Amino acid sequence: MVKNATPHAPAEANAPDWSALVDYSASLDCIHCGLCLRSCPTYELTGRESSSPRGRIHLMRAVGEGRLEPDAAFGEEMDFCLVCRNCETVCPAGVEFGAMMEHTRSGLEDVRSRSLKGRFLRWIGLRVLVPNRLALELAASSARLAHQVGIMGLASRILGNAVPSPESQPPIPSRRERRLLPQRTESLGPQLEEVYLLDGCLMPVFLGRVNRASAQVLSALGVLVKAPREAGCCGSLHAHNGDRSEAQRLAKAMIAAYGGAGDPAPIVVGSAGCGSHMKEYPGLFEAGTADFAAAEAFSARVLDWTEFLAARLDRLRLAMGGTEPAKPGLAARLGAVNGVATWDAPCHLCHGQGVRDEPLAVLDAALEAGAMERRELHESERCCGSAGTYSMTHADASNELLESKLDDLETTGASLLVTANPGCQLQWEIGIRRRGLTVRVAHIAEVVAANLD
Ligand code: SF4
Ligand code: SF4
Repeated sequence: MVKNATPHAPAEANAPDWSALVDYSASLDCIHCGLCLRSCPTYELTGRESSSPRGRIHLMRAVGEGRLEPDAAFGEEMDFCLVCRNCETVCPAGVEFGAMMEHTRSGLEDVRSRSLKGRFLRWIGLRVLVPNRLALELAASSARLAHQVGIMGLASRILGNAVPSPESQPPIPSRRERRLLPQRTESLGPQLEEVYLLDGCLMPVFLGRVNRASAQVLSALGVLVKAPREAGCCGSLHAHNGDRSEAQRLAKAMIAAYGGAGDPAPIVVGSAGCGSHMKEYPGLFEAGTADFAAAEAFSARVLDWTEFLAARLDRLRLAMGGTEPAKPGLAARLGAVNGVATWDAPCHLCHGQGVRDEPLAVLDAALEAGAMERRELHESERCCGSAGTYSMTHADASNELLESKLDDLETTGASLLVTANPGCQLQWEIGIRRRGLTVRVAHIAEVVAANLD
């Protein structure tokens, strides 16, 4: 694969110029210290330097210098990365690995050859289903029916890893459960402020109840919640998977849907992966352009749901009962048999957005009001293996990562696992069901909302 192992060797005469495929100048930020290696889940799995952040940056740099062809082996190593961004948290040189990986994956799409089936599935997933509510709803209804009549296994055999085996699929709730948020949820009591709340694309399909819990809590805090129908997919899956042009189109649509550059209302997001991407919209556009300026203004308004709540903790405590004694019914309402909860930090909340204290402040307030206890999960910031479409494209690696997280969960003795990202929530639910544990998985908004009942 490596054409010339000499560092900084000039490209061979007439060799194709791959330099635009990678962000070469960003790759030079890496000082090769290796501090990121132990934080990288794929390095932990394989022990291979090429599957580590430093190794991947080395490969990108070699491509940028014309010493390495972006061949199939290079593409596989880039795809094997979870883009969990744990390496960014520990990197002393401030390497922005997630942005570098998205740049590389986008460049790879221009040169890599995919099978007809691979291209078709990618087109169906990224261009037809995810950005189109009607198509998504049709697919959800069909998949639910297929589950009910027991032919999902057949679909998974025909389409391979594009459709996970039935036991690795999250259940699709009823149509009523899949309904979108109302376009306006009025505040309970006097209106103190107003926000937009992201409905999302896949969130209503699998976890509409989480969106409703998020809106219910905001409303109880005197917030008018707006959820315009025009706001659909944020484009994070597209950026993550190298479909930059569609990611740009979807970002522009989102910016327009939430009132454009002149609207000051905060945009509250309950999905850590979406929020992380929406905070980084400017990276999709060329600096100095009107799109870049609009993206900057938009991203400054984006807040994770826990960030918004943590800044209003007094109001939240009042809504949950104020100085009244703790209400022990919370554990029963959540189905947490022993009253012990634990928190698993989504990668795109802690590593992607640097949001760590806020969810714990909100969760502890909710657990305290409900007379529940929180225990630490070992390495709570380590990836659960969900990572967007990774659990489908790299099912074995994803499962291996999840199994080790499940071991850690068992040592806590918790009967409630709390998180704040739909992909992680579904991944945990699948793993817990498979292992036969008596543990309920909940989004943090569901825990808070259960205190309002
Ligand atoms: S993003 Fe995650 S999987 Fe990818 S190199 Fe960094 S730590 Fe490893
Ligand atoms: S920690 Fe940062 S600078 Fe050090 S090897 Fe990893 S990516 Fe490079």
